[in-house]
Amino acid sequence: MANPVFMVGMEFKSHSLFRDAVKEYAIKHGKSIKFLKSDREKVRAVCKKGCPWECYASYVPIDQLSRVKTYTPHHKCIRSCDVPWVSSNWIVTKYCNRIRNNPTWPMPSLHTTIKQEWTCKVDIQKVYRAKKKALNIIHGSAVEQFGQF
Ligand SMILES: [Zn+2]
Repeated sequence: MANPVFMVGMEFKSHSLFRDAVKEYAIKHGKSIKFLKSDREKVRAVCKKGCPWECYASYVPIDQLSRVKTYTPHHKCIRSCDVPWVSSNWIVTKYCNRIRNNPTWPMPSLHTTIKQEWTCKVDIQKVYRAKKKALNIIHGSAVEQFGQF
């Protein structure tokens, strides 16, 4: 889901996939979205105080999936550069393939690329950790591939 768009009735295989889509949306649009009241039955995502944006999904046991029940798509807030979901793991999922193709990608350039592509604030320490993790994954899978021969 590179650019998730939500609508009522939309289905996700699990709450955690729904949460991932919300995080992706928050990073993409620069929104300080938070989760409230999340449990097995329901996940509620809200935007900043005073902003009406809200997305609420509940688990449908008979279909074993998570379904969007209510969605208020309009924001009153302005774009925020400080989205809590930009983590090193998120960077790994987004940039692992490109790091694989360019393992010597210099840190300042990688950092700038992420900031520009997502118009978000990213702590360079997170980028360091992400690159390290990505290289471990890449190195690990290379070892595995050799092991198969
Ligand atoms: Zn908002």
